[in-house]
Amino acid sequence: MSKTDVIIIGAGASGMMCAIESAKRGRAVIVLDHASKTGKKIRISGGGSCNFTNTSISHENYLSGNPHFCKSALSRFTPDDFITMLQKHGVEYEEREEGQLFCAGNSEGITRMFQKECDDSGVDIILDCQVQDVKKTGFFIVSTNQGVFESGSLVIATGGLSYPQIGASDFGYNIAKQFGLGVTELKPALVPLIFSKKDREIFGELSGVSIDATVKCSNMEFRGSILFTHRGLSGPAILQVSSYWKKGDNIVIDLLPDVDLYNIFIERKLGKTRIDMHNLLSEYLPSRLAKNWSISNIQSKPVIQYNEKELKDIAYMLHNWELQPEFTEGYKIAEVTLGGIDTNELSSKTMESRKVKGLYFTGEVIDVTGWLGGYNLHWAWASGFVAGQYV
Ligand SMILES: Cc1cc2nc3c(=O)[nH]c(=O)nc-3n(C[C@H](O)[C@H](O)[C@H](O)COP(=O)(O)OP(=O)(O)OC[C@H]3O[C@@H](n4cnc5c(N)ncnc54)[C@H](O)[C@@H]3O)c2cc1C
Repeated sequence: MSKTDVIIIGAGASGMMCAIESAKRGRAVIVLDHASKTGKKIRISGGGSCNFTNTSISHENYLSGNPHFCKSALSRFTPDDFITMLQKHGVEYEEREEGQLFCAGNSEGITRMFQKECDDSGVDIILDCQVQDVKKTGFFIVSTNQGVFESGSLVIATGGLSYPQIGASDFGYNIAKQFGLGVTELKPALVPLIFSKKDREIFGELSGVSIDATVKCSNMEFRGSILFTHRGLSGPAILQVSSYWKKGDNIVIDLLPDVDLYNIFIERKLGKTRIDMHNLLSEYLPSRLAKNWSISNIQSKPVIQYNEKELKDIAYMLHNWELQPEFTEGYKIAEVTLGGIDTNELSSKTMESRKVKGLYFTGEVIDVTGWLGGYNLHWAWASGFVAGQYV
């Protein structure tokens, strides 16, 4: 049996951050992961360039049963703290829209940085390690295909359910249940939405069309691009609202947020134009979208033939296009899992279980889910960092 101070299960974003911080305090740390490489999600994140944080981060960028839970960790590990780490290792980065910070090259710079920090602080990482059983006697006993490990502190940093194809598992939620900790409802989030069958028939052929729009759901509103796919809608604004969407909810899309359509219609009517409505809409929207939207929502005819009330209604419908998606695309392509270990079970200062001394959870496995834009990785760094001060 190998004895150590801290065992961390999960060599992803939060697990490696926690390992480095605790090893810097002189703790002997072993990290176990069933994957063949560390940080697989970091490697594929942000399209391979890793949107590692955001210049503006607050608890308002997160969904959680307790919206205040993340405040303490976010205040103790800020975007500047992560940037300082990058600068120490010469990893270059760039700011893109809405304060999103990405690696200037690929995300390998970040995984190399973590590997170097782990090596320098003496963290022992064991890969291809299948955890078979976890018990608590006085110490935690973790049995694996590579031996049995014993420690006083155990950190569960196994992330959420999304992207099972690169090693995501329900391990963390099962450990929580084994030790009697509550887990909130789990759902795929930051995920494309699938049209109803009827809408799929009309809009599925628009696959590849993208526009700038505003999308609303459950009192939340996001502006950004939306992308038609052959089954539904994707793109940043859709991914953002998907975290707030539940089956049965409508989403409301403003297809032309900066355009006063009613005024344009009236001007064209007064100009006695003979142009058909769907052709007029093609001047503002991709023509395939203008045509299919018109087929689905109105009877297109020359603009001059509509009365003012009808023009007002059409403008309203284009600014408030209501759709009821049927499903999401699920965990296979969701970026994150909404929900997780109930925050009431954990100390927001240390991430330690209130019921089980020495048991910690970090990162996405906790019921704290960020918006698109670097918020999820930042939560992983911050929660791993604070746990690392106490394990
Ligand atoms: C395609 C994609 C793109 C993304 N892009 C971004 C982005 O640009 N910006 C952003 O902020 N967020 C992004 N995210 C989300 C972000 O990657 C995660 O929220 C973050 O990595 C979570 O960190 P974590 O430490 O909690 O878990 P992870 O980083 O997922 O690490 C969990 C680790 O646990 C290991 N593990 C799981 N089960 C077991 C088990 N049973 N036994 C042993 N080990 C196990 C895994 O192999 C993994 O190494 C993206 C996610 C995806 C899927």
